[in-house]
Amino acid sequence: MKIARFLYKKQINWGIVKKETITLITGEPYKKIILTSTEIPRDKVKLLAPATPSKIICVGLNYKDHAAELGMKIPDEPIIFLKPPTAMIGPEEKIVYPGGVGQLDYEAELGIVIKKKGRKIKEKDYAGYVLGYTCLNDVTARDLQRKDGQWTRAKSFDTFCPLGPWLETKINPADLNIRLYLNEEIKQDSSTKNFIFSAPFIISFISKIMTILPGDVIATGTPPGVGPMKRGDHAKVEIEGIGELENQIT
Ligand code: MG
Repeated sequence: MKIARFLYKKQINWGIVKKETITLITGEPYKKIILTSTEIPRDKVKLLAPATPSKIICVGLNYKDHAAELGMKIPDEPIIFLKPPTAMIGPEEKIVYPGGVGQLDYEAELGIVIKKKGRKIKEKDYAGYVLGYTCLNDVTARDLQRKDGQWTRAKSFDTFCPLGPWLETKINPADLNIRLYLNEEIKQDSSTKNFIFSAPFIISFISKIMTILPGDVIATGTPPGVGPMKRGDHAKVEIEGIGELENQIT
């Protein structure tokens, strides 16, 4: 099932994506999904980022092939950091290249959107806390990341977290092809089979530190091939079984 958040007639709604239409649901999808009889043509809506996070929690290094590319040792625990919810944008919205930034990088990532409040979640129980999976671009001001030593400024500019196009509920997060295209050229091409830390482990690990809330977003790290974007470029994250998230840099 694909769950979308979208703008229709100036109102924010949630719905279930079908071939030609979206079936409107009542309220938000975090509890029980209640279908209405309203079918909206897909070309009449503007898709929004499919989450309402109190926080966006990101994993730093989570692909074996990326660690090898960087010549880094496999970490024994995930490195995590936060992006503010104000960084989030939806499909087709513009990534703003900030003045004063020397290198703006893409990072294609599998995003997880949380369904219910949780703390100290056991790995075996993870699925009950996941609403769905989506594409995410962890946009990074690489020069500021190097300069500052810690990552808040480099990861937090408005528009630095494109998310979408919708949530897929029925996929296995451990076996998905993930790609990034810059202007239709493949730059990143890997699989979540290369995760160092699995989705269940990451959810359990984070929930031992902080309470996760409905609508929170987890970014699961990026594969090899990270690189720079310039104004006018198109960045597209494509994940098997989910879809494509495309944003232009301005
Ligand atoms: Mg990242």
